[in-house]
Amino acid sequence: MALIPILTYPDPRLREKARPVEVVDAAIRALIDDMAQTMYAAKGIGLAATQVGVARRVVVMDLSPEHDQLQVLINPTITARDGVQVCEEGCLSVPEVFEEVERAERIAVNYLDRDGQAQQLDADGLLAVCVQHEIDHLDGKLFVDYLSRLKQDRLRKKAGKRQRDETRP
Ligand code: ZN
Repeated sequence: MALIPILTYPDPRLREKARPVEVVDAAIRALIDDMAQTMYAAKGIGLAATQVGVARRVVVMDLSPEHDQLQVLINPTITARDGVQVCEEGCLSVPEVFEEVERAERIAVNYLDRDGQAQQLDADGLLAVCVQHEIDHLDGKLFVDYLSRLKQDRLRKKAGKRQRDETRP
């Protein structure tokens, strides 16, 4: 297993639309293991393959208090959504930014597990938020896209400044 660098906003690779996984093979399972290790090391609760520069529809999540209940969603699709909730979100690819985003309160999701078996998940609350956030990543979308234009302008400036600071000798 290996850690993979996490891309940060405004890296253009975060805007790529990920392709579905056709066969859940050893290469996909190795990607899942690396993504899980990377997510735990970064103290995140979810990570999409697009965030590590791999444009495949793979998501790992763990919302458990002990960080010992990994959830793997391959080719996740939302089949039903209901209600509205507003939750403060953050993202490993948008460091130090936490903003409220409106999402569906309850969703139903079809996906494949790490054995390639078709599964269904009914999610609400934080789990529903997390799944919607991660599926957005697979479509090249970030949570900051939901913010006002003014807030997005401010974020772009901040991100530009951060990158300049990092590249300074
Ligand atoms: Zn994210």
